[in-house]
Amino acid sequence: MKVIVLGSSGSVGAPDNPASGYLILPDRGTGVLMDIGPGVLAQLQRFHGPNEAHVVFSHLHADHCLDFPSLMVWRRYHPESPASGRNLCFGPAATFEHLGRLSSDVAGEVDDMSDTFAFSPWQAHREEIVGSLNITPFPVIHPVETYALRVQDPRSGKVIAYSGDSSFTSELVACARDADLFLCEATWGVSSEGKAPNMHLSGAEAGRIAQEAGAKRLLLVHIPPWGDPQGALEAARAEFDGPVEVSAAGMEIHV
Ligand SMILES: [Zn+2]
Ligand SMILES: [Zn+2]
Repeated sequence: MKVIVLGSSGSVGAPDNPASGYLILPDRGTGVLMDIGPGVLAQLQRFHGPNEAHVVFSHLHADHCLDFPSLMVWRRYHPESPASGRNLCFGPAATFEHLGRLSSDVAGEVDDMSDTFAFSPWQAHREEIVGSLNITPFPVIHPVETYALRVQDPRSGKVIAYSGDSSFTSELVACARDADLFLCEATWGVSSEGKAPNMHLSGAEAGRIAQEAGAKRLLLVHIPPWGDPQGALEAARAEFDGPVEVSAAGMEIHV
C-alpha cells in the first residue's frame, strides 16, 4: 500500500501545496481519496483516474471538501469517460446534504448526487470496507463532526492512520496504534499553548501521540502557509523516537 500526498497545506492551500487530500493506493484494487480540499482534484489527475477513486472524509470544513463539486462535473460530464457506476463515499452524517448544497445550481437546494456516489455516514469505531481497504473512523475533537481514519490493507496487514483535524485526544492514540505510517496534523507549530482550544495539534503533541501509539513513522500534515514547519518538526522529534518528516505535495510513501 502507498499514500500519495496530493495536498497537505493546513486550513488553506499554499502556492506549492493544495489543501488536504491524500490518495491511498492498495497493493491491488481501487484507490481511496481521503479528503478533497481546494486544488486536490488537479493533483489527483497526475496519479489516478478521478472517476475510479472512492472518497472518504475526515470532516466537512472547506479545506477538506471544496473540490467535491468539481469531481461531480468530471464524473457526470467528462466527454469521453464519464463515471460508469457509483463509487463509495463515507463521511460525517451531513455529507450528502452539505456537499449537495455545494454542488447545486440553485441556492438553498441540494444536488442529489446518488447517481454517481453511494453515500454512507461513518459510525464511530465501526470498520467499513471501502473497495479493497478496511477503514475505521475514530471520533476526534474539532468544532464539527470529525474522524481520524485508520486504513488497513487486509492483504498485507499494513496500516496508515490519519488524524484529520483534532486537538489532543486518546482516540488519536487508538487510531494510530502500531500504524506503519501516521499522518498527523501539526497546525500549531511547536506548542498548543495560547492557541484556540479544541481545534488542532502542535508538533509536540503529534510526536507524543505517535510515541504513545507505537507508530513506526510520522508524517506531519496540515501546517498552514503562515505556520512553522521547522518548529513543528523539531518539537515532534523531541517526543517521538521514530522517523518524522514534514509533508509536501507529490510525496509518495510506501508501507
Ligand atoms: Zn483543516
Ligand atoms: Zn477542520
